Amino acid sequence: MEYILETHNLEKRYKNFKAISNLNMHIPKGAIYGLIGKNGAGKTTLIRVICGLQKPTSGTYSIYGIENTNKKIDKVRKRMGAIVELPAIRLEATAEDNLKEQFKIVGLPNYDNLHELLKLVGLTKTGKKKAKNFSLGMKQRLGIAIALVGNPDFLILDEPINGLDPEGIIEIRELILRLNKEKKITFLISSHYLDELSKIATEYGFLDKGKIIKEISKQELEQSSKKRIEIKVSNIKECVKYLEENNYSYEVISDEIINIYDVVNISKLAVELSKRNCIIKGFDEKEESLENYYINLIGGNSNV
Ligand code: ATP
Repeated sequence: MEYILETHNLEKRYKNFKAISNLNMHIPKGAIYGLIGKNGAGKTTLIRVICGLQKPTSGTYSIYGIENTNKKIDKVRKRMGAIVELPAIRLEATAEDNLKEQFKIVGLPNYDNLHELLKLVGLTKTGKKKAKNFSLGMKQRLGIAIALVGNPDFLILDEPINGLDPEGIIEIRELILRLNKEKKITFLISSHYLDELSKIATEYGFLDKGKIIKEISKQELEQSSKKRIEIKVSNIKECVKYLEENNYSYEVISDEIINIYDVVNISKLAVELSKRNCIIKGFDEKEESLENYYINLIGGNSNV
């Protein structure tokens, strides 16, 4: 697997307090990596360290395989764009002037793809309107356009939908998906909004008390949280035989519990099984959301 970003026992201490410690994360090329963690888990600290805004106290990270201790890291960093906390926008300037400013900062001699960028984020029609008069969603999209100057292929967005209305959230979601699909941009996105994140993320990293406690792909998560009916039966052998004969997708969990992953008419099943000397002693329908998965993982209430 090719990773755009890897961290190795990364640590950032503020005096004696470890905001992140022993942190190991892996962002595969082409992923939309959702970084999940409650307030104070260390998301912003991690992002600031990766962006080079703060130095790690110990441990390392590599971007495109280049370690942060390597001189080439500054060159590699040009391949990434980021919005940390708030987008870097000049409120008194128009969208176009904000972008021009960024072209200069990045050291690009002309404004080659400026209009393409405005089009990409849906801001071609803002003309002379100053950024201070933009909606929050427009400001966020302008921030993304600014982060895209220099054609990065790795974009870091810290809480990109905070404060946005439903329409703004959809626009940002669609923009991220389009950039990922069409421009092959890899994303690291931190968010409190698990439901929203679950609509776009292909990988998840769960951050708790400064550590990544679990990394899981969307497929693995779906596999572990498939809708299922758990049944408890008196005669597991006969039950398995029936499920086999009727092409059900199932998994034997213990010598009396089976998970069925198909739509089941439970009363019909009970009748059929009773003909085979098997009684259903109990059943439970289960479905796990990303939020449930997260709460189970960290134990107790999430506070997200
Ligand atoms: P939030 O979602 O609230 O932004 P977060 O996951 O981004 O939270 P961080 O901002 O990274 O968390 O903070 C992690 C911990 O480090 C917190 O306990 C915070 O108080 C502490 N911290 C962050 N910056 C500093 C600093 N400059 N000095 C001391 N402690 C800090």
